[in-house]
Amino acid sequence: MEELCFYEVLQVSKSATATEIKKAYRKLAIKYHPDKNPGDKEAEETFKIINEAYAVLSDDKKREIYDMYGKEGLQGQAGSGFGGGGMDDIMDIFNSMFGDSFGFGGGKSQQRSSMQYPLDIEQEISLEFNEAVFGSEKEIEVKYLEPCDDCNGTGAKDGVLSTCSYCQGQGQVVMRQGFMTFAQECPKCHGTGKTSGESCPTCKGVGGIEKSESVTISIPAGINAGNRLRVPGKGNIDSFGHRGDLYLHFDIEEDENFVRDGDDIYIEVPVFFTQLLLSEEITVPSLEGEVSINLSPKIRDKEHFIFNNKGVPHVNSPSRRGRFIVQIKVNYPQKLNSEQKELIEQLNESFGLESKPHKSIFENTFDRIKDWMK
Ligand SMILES: [Zn+2]
Ligand SMILES: [Zn+2]
Repeated sequence: MEELCFYEVLQVSKSATATEIKKAYRKLAIKYHPDKNPGDKEAEETFKIINEAYAVLSDDKKREIYDMYGKEGLQGQAGSGFGGGGMDDIMDIFNSMFGDSFGFGGGKSQQRSSMQYPLDIEQEISLEFNEAVFGSEKEIEVKYLEPCDDCNGTGAKDGVLSTCSYCQGQGQVVMRQGFMTFAQECPKCHGTGKTSGESCPTCKGVGGIEKSESVTISIPAGINAGNRLRVPGKGNIDSFGHRGDLYLHFDIEEDENFVRDGDDIYIEVPVFFTQLLLSEEITVPSLEGEVSINLSPKIRDKEHFIFNNKGVPHVNSPSRRGRFIVQIKVNYPQKLNSEQKELIEQLNESFGLESKPHKSIFENTFDRIKDWMK
């Protein structure tokens, strides 16, 4: 089998931005997380490869080396995720992105009951550009689990559980890495020490029955892809009636004019070269109304006008805002009709020698070269 390159692993293009890579990783990591696929060796392998790819592509330096020299170039690099990198390292990467309280059983808040499913759940929702920038109220459908009556949430037929064979009922497994050993929660039974022998036919071993509820969520202004919003008490329900939390992730639509980079907003403004020469004042749309810009002949293509505190509110402290940045794009005519050509020629003439600066500078030089050639 041919090995996939890291870009293929994360299903992104070679020119993918950091945000795109993060997003792709997040989707795949949730899908192949070992706690979500207990006992599935293939999923575990895939999970490792996804994390290896992300460890490299999320690091500008490593990505550059990888782009130039491939995997070989990274061999021997500290923390490159090759060779010594065990499952603990991988979980570090994962946890640094999702936080420790990720929903798949690993959270410390998790009830150590014999429930077959975790209490916290994850969901991704789509937001329009403006909904994320200004905040919004969103009504969403939440799918959660309620314990199955027939097995009392255990997923085992008639609720009869047997000792977990993976951890011999300990609820923990010992991982070895070099000289170190770590006790980790058993991935098979989620630390309960028990598994179901025969699956409950009503819920097919899931332990729960899916329910759906409409929930109104208040999205704070400035939310961005990569943020996680906790909605307390909207997760799965266990057999004691405790309810977990819902964690929301966001997929944010792009705007056709405004480009968002963190809390900064960029807009490209095309201007015609004559507007610069005539020092026109123009108005530009911003997140709140208009801003005006005084053009002048000194302005260059791609020049920035920066408006501090006119960008996106920071999600955790709304009084702090990003910048609003106007990037000028200078347009020159690509073709002249005969009338325009004549006008430009007239203009040139009226400037006299000023219209041919290279001539006046090189006047002497031409003569000197002639002398040298003699
Ligand atoms: Zn176990
Ligand atoms: Zn059941």
